[in-house]
Amino acid sequence: MTLSSTQTTLDQLPPACDNIQFNYCKTVACANFSRTDPQLYVLQNNNLQRPVLICRECGAFPPVLSNHDVVAEKQRFTLEQNSGLAACSNNACPHNGLPVLTYRQFYHAFGFSGERQRYRCKACQHTFVDPWSNSNNKHQLQQKILAYLFTGYTVREICRRLTMNPKTFYDQLNNIAARCRRQLTIFDARLGKQAQACHLATDLAPLQPHSNNGVLWIATAETDSGYVVSQHVNYQTQPAATYVAHHDAYRIGTRFIAPHSYHHPHATSTTSQGLLAHIDATYRQILARKNMENPLSGEVTINYPTKGCLIRPQYTVYSHFLYLRELLSQSIPSLTVFMPQETLLRSACLSVFIDRINNHTIDPLYVVEDNQWQHGQHAEKIDIVLMGWWRDRWAFSRNKTGNKGICHLGGSKKNQQHWLTVATHRAVISYQQRFYDQFSHMVNEPRRKLRPASLLPLLDIYRAWHNLCHQNKAGVTPAQELGLISSPMTLEQLLQ
Ligand SMILES: [Zn+2]
Ligand SMILES: [Zn+2]
Repeated sequence: MTLSSTQTTLDQLPPACDNIQFNYCKTVACANFSRTDPQLYVLQNNNLQRPVLICRECGAFPPVLSNHDVVAEKQRFTLEQNSGLAACSNNACPHNGLPVLTYRQFYHAFGFSGERQRYRCKACQHTFVDPWSNSNNKHQLQQKILAYLFTGYTVREICRRLTMNPKTFYDQLNNIAARCRRQLTIFDARLGKQAQACHLATDLAPLQPHSNNGVLWIATAETDSGYVVSQHVNYQTQPAATYVAHHDAYRIGTRFIAPHSYHHPHATSTTSQGLLAHIDATYRQILARKNMENPLSGEVTINYPTKGCLIRPQYTVYSHFLYLRELLSQSIPSLTVFMPQETLLRSACLSVFIDRINNHTIDPLYVVEDNQWQHGQHAEKIDIVLMGWWRDRWAFSRNKTGNKGICHLGGSKKNQQHWLTVATHRAVISYQQRFYDQFSHMVNEPRRKLRPASLLPLLDIYRAWHNLCHQNKAGVTPAQELGLISSPMTLEQLLQ
């Protein structure tokens, strides 16, 4: 990570990091859009009640963030994703942590250690064994654990039936999760090499909906197959080294939320009627936040987890999109991202894919539809309404059964009919809903509400099972649908 400068004065934007500068006007129609010359903005950082950055051209005041902390958050994801995979472990080596599985060109096969494959790093000559290269002698036990988990047994019941203690259960669960991450790494890499147009759906939802523990879960799926490309949570199991009291984009480490619970008993709930009123109410709620790009700021109750550390959600969401940009081939001719109405998702998607916005190779859209709307139906009559502080241009369609609205966030006014027919983020919403249903005892158990760490291995296992094993009505898995594999995987194959 290289900071362009560590010294800043308040006539400067927060320093760029690894050539990334996310602080600029995010109004697509504004002349200052995506421009990073500090002269174009009014900057101040001594009054917490006022915005740090105001665009001199359009008056918008996008929240600022630490570029350094976005990059650091993405490094956390990468380490987590690769943890347990065979890779050079020499901290001083440029190949450190880069798994053999995806960076074969960096390593030589170097004999065996017992049954296990040994590798040598081409850069530093360090040798290491692949822990997964011999057969899994626990796979029968692990298959039983998964079978019980997926049929709704509680941890206590599983331990009793398999006569094991909870410590052994969680050790096995973590081992299964590492195997799942290894499988996912292989298929994600195959997906990343594909170069045809890609349609994505992203959603941001609480990991444990009834806990108010501040842990949000962002997931992105390919819309047609349902393949979940990546998912992240704004929570880490280790506490942070230091905490800053108020978010300050000019300070390193500002992404961590200090352990403290917040109670706002009179939280506003949307009881508005109709789609238009609902969208309007959502805009008001977003504007009422202390920081529009932080859903946990303002009048929100947070029951802080007993262990570990929450991360300000904007850092996790920006990093999630950075992770996607790195994973997906640059040669994809066009990218579509469907998302619910949430300023944080919009800003992060636009900022990360700014080059694609400027050369019109991405279509980011808000999609709001009621449950009665039948997906794929033709939009007959279209109404255009400008909404919110931003005067976002929404297209609405209504028929006997339901209502749907879409808003193209890249500023395109074309193809409203097309978008009203095809745009949907149901693939990712149903993925998240099925997780809540499938593991409801783990998600909702009172003892776990402040202990989200025990759900993290389940997320990896669930994504692997969903992508590779779970068949739709036609007997096809999401990975098959995308042409990444020719047949469904069995649990046994998943655990090999
Ligand atoms: Zn502007
Ligand atoms: Zn090395």
